[in-house]
Amino acid sequence: MPISLLQRRDFSPMPFHEAAERFGKRIALPSDVFDRLSKEAKKRAFRIAGLHKANQVQRARNLVKRAIREGTDFSRVQQQLRQLFDHEKLSPPNLTRLRLMFRHVELRAYADERNEVYREVADTFPYKQYLTVGNGTPGINGVRATHAALHGLVFRADDPFWRLHDPPWEWGCRCFTVVLTPGQVDARGVEVRDLNYVRTELAVVGQAHRGITAERSLVADEGADLTKLDAELQLALQEATQRRSDEAT
Ligand SMILES: [Zn+2]
Repeated sequence: MPISLLQRRDFSPMPFHEAAERFGKRIALPSDVFDRLSKEAKKRAFRIAGLHKANQVQRARNLVKRAIREGTDFSRVQQQLRQLFDHEKLSPPNLTRLRLMFRHVELRAYADERNEVYREVADTFPYKQYLTVGNGTPGINGVRATHAALHGLVFRADDPFWRLHDPPWEWGCRCFTVVLTPGQVDARGVEVRDLNYVRTELAVVGQAHRGITAERSLVADEGADLTKLDAELQLALQEATQRRSDEAT
């Protein structure tokens, strides 16, 4: 694949419907069902704080999915989610949290789509560079210190680093990645780093690792036992479906 083609795709927004489909694969669960899931299963599920009924969270999921597909502005999504909370006679949602949630699921959906493209070209582009929307200085464009510290670093695309830090790896993260050929890595004169380097040399990020919870580390784990995971999600889905029909009666 010509480099120009891949890069154009990387830097331009992904087609909305692809990202929406990706997000739509996440199963919508009431909070208590979600909380019981394993770390890996949580990455494939979805919930909204404050929504405890299966029907409510399903409606919110559909609303977010439609918004991603149609490229709806967050102010509109926010209004719709507020209406949903009002309609269900729930106390109003935390709007900052909702905004971050929306931004996060949207970016995560884009990133998952993009990673699928990356995997297809991994032989040609075995390296991946982490970039922020700033210049590596904490605070520039509101980039957190833990993210700024990673700006410009290059890793093998299959390095375990990406399991923890494939952006967005925290709520509100707007970082992104580009893939590189070995020739490009040489030409830039950058050293290829690994997870161990980040843990031992970047104290600020190493500390953040302790704060990464299953919910925040949303990267799909390729090493996961997919059969077991599917069975677990299937059970959770059955429970949510059962609850929806119970709630409807
Ligand atoms: Zn970030």
